[in-house]
Amino acid sequence: VQSDRLANEASQVIVGGVNSPSRSFKGVGGGNPVTMARGDGAYLYDVDDNRYIDYLAAFGPIITGFNHPHIVKAIKRAADTGVLFGTPSEHEIIFAKMLTDAIPSMDKVRFTNSGTEAVMTTVRVARAYTNRELIVKFSGQYHGHFDLVLVEAGSGPSTLGATDSGGVTRGTSKEVITVPYNDVESYRAVMEKWGSQVAGVLVEPIVGNFGMVAPKPGFLEAVNDITHEHGALVIYDEVITNFRFRYGAVQDMLGVIPDLTAFGKSIGGGLPIGAYGGPSEIMDTVAPLGPAYQAGTMSGNPLSMQAGIACLEVLQEPGIYERMADFAVQLKEALLEAGKKQAIPTVVNQIGGSLTVYFTDHPIENYADAKDTDTERFGHFFKAMLDEGINLAPSKYEAWFLTIMHTQEDIDETKRAIDKAFAKLV
Ligand code: PMP
Repeated sequence: VQSDRLANEASQVIVGGVNSPSRSFKGVGGGNPVTMARGDGAYLYDVDDNRYIDYLAAFGPIITGFNHPHIVKAIKRAADTGVLFGTPSEHEIIFAKMLTDAIPSMDKVRFTNSGTEAVMTTVRVARAYTNRELIVKFSGQYHGHFDLVLVEAGSGPSTLGATDSGGVTRGTSKEVITVPYNDVESYRAVMEKWGSQVAGVLVEPIVGNFGMVAPKPGFLEAVNDITHEHGALVIYDEVITNFRFRYGAVQDMLGVIPDLTAFGKSIGGGLPIGAYGGPSEIMDTVAPLGPAYQAGTMSGNPLSMQAGIACLEVLQEPGIYERMADFAVQLKEALLEAGKKQAIPTVVNQIGGSLTVYFTDHPIENYADAKDTDTERFGHFFKAMLDEGINLAPSKYEAWFLTIMHTQEDIDETKRAIDKAFAKLV
């Protein structure tokens, strides 16, 4: 088949045949990833013209589907009128206003090209603002691929069987303290010991990187209180959660407000994007106003700005979040039902229009719980679903994402695929 031929060719010229390791099939027992040719709505078509109902959503950003007409029109318009200026342009202001209007904790924003850049800069800003150096984070959360956060990172490295990355200096790994998520007492103990040196704590408020995991009641509130008692900043990494569960940030759904927030993925309509923001008092630490340097030749480029604006316009359509959540509940029920029918221990964490299936009999509240699930069985399930024409993330640590393009027919077809895939697992 063409797909295998291209995958083998890719391996000759691209490391591992992929431009991001999470696309490889290493975490699902190996084999070539499928080479896709095109996307349409909620479907992907491979180079052999097989159709897949897609729940990968390109690891999150494709919340409006692969080629939403409103977004495509905006991208074409942007391309027609100049792809990059290197000067300010009006669309940056329009997009910045849409974001600051939707997210009350943010007076000012800065655009970057990826979630990694956004999170990386929030760390620098927190350090510059507090004049401190230590960062606390929660194990298994993924915050991108800069050195500091590759110490006990989640989905990416752990899919490949590692928790840390090579090439990160011992010096850097001493600048970050990692504690279990959903464990207030561990966090309190760390802050009692190190709090006076901590610049900030990085938090995925709802975790997307050891599967979808919700905060226990009171956990985020306690993190905020303890952090502020020690004069440090709370930094939310909403790269996955922004505009995923509602129009805006998840912080306003949870009612817990951070000092700085990093954004990405779903705000860009599928184009390269990241952003970070907060109150003016903190954001004015950034150059050219303040000492924290951050820049980018491509930052705020017309294509990403106009795609982002169009994407947020689409996401204002009433009822879309409710429908995605309803579909996710249906899929959760189908997975649990299939597990029961085949006597396969199955746990599903579903939050809004996203879900993760774990092959285990214990609840998943932190990274240790997620690691302690059946990796091999997930690999078999993933491949059985792919055979049935369903494209999922090739890792037990990732989520399924609904999009506004999925229909009830797609969900029904997926339920039948789930039934067949589970039957193959026994
Ligand atoms: N933070 C979180 C929570 C993420 O899930 C990701 C990407 N998976 C990132 C940061 C990094 O974003 P990007 O891949 O755009 O650099």
